[in-house]
Amino acid sequence: MSTLFSKIIDGELDAEFIYQDEHLVVIKDIYPKAPVHVLMIPRKPIINLDDLNQEDEALMGYMMMKVPQIAASLGLESGYRTIINTGKGGGQEVFHLHIHILGGGTSLPFV
Ligand code: 5GP
Repeated sequence: MSTLFSKIIDGELDAEFIYQDEHLVVIKDIYPKAPVHVLMIPRKPIINLDDLNQEDEALMGYMMMKVPQIAASLGLESGYRTIINTGKGGGQEVFHLHIHILGGGTSLPFV
């Protein structure tokens, strides 16, 4: 299934890329809820945490290890918030797994 984020990853839709490698991309959120608000998205079109398979274990570990590197590159030395919304009941709007990374503010939202 093609999602909004798949189209961004495939270059069919525009986005401001912060970082990309063979496993994931990081883009700026188009409607930022904090001074810094980016989305880390695996290239693999996993729907959400409920869609994970055993084969995704290394990818998820890779993503988590990449978060502090991205946060540091964005100047978030004092800290940041990470959020993964899962399913409609969890507030998920785009059904392609992504990690919100938010920071730079005194009061951060829960997205
Ligand atoms: P979710 O609610 O699924 O966890 O988060 C989806 C996020 O995608 C929201 O924070 C929303 O602002 C962001 N978003 C929605 N459409 C676009 C878009 O076209 N481009 C970008 N860069 N972000 C988007």
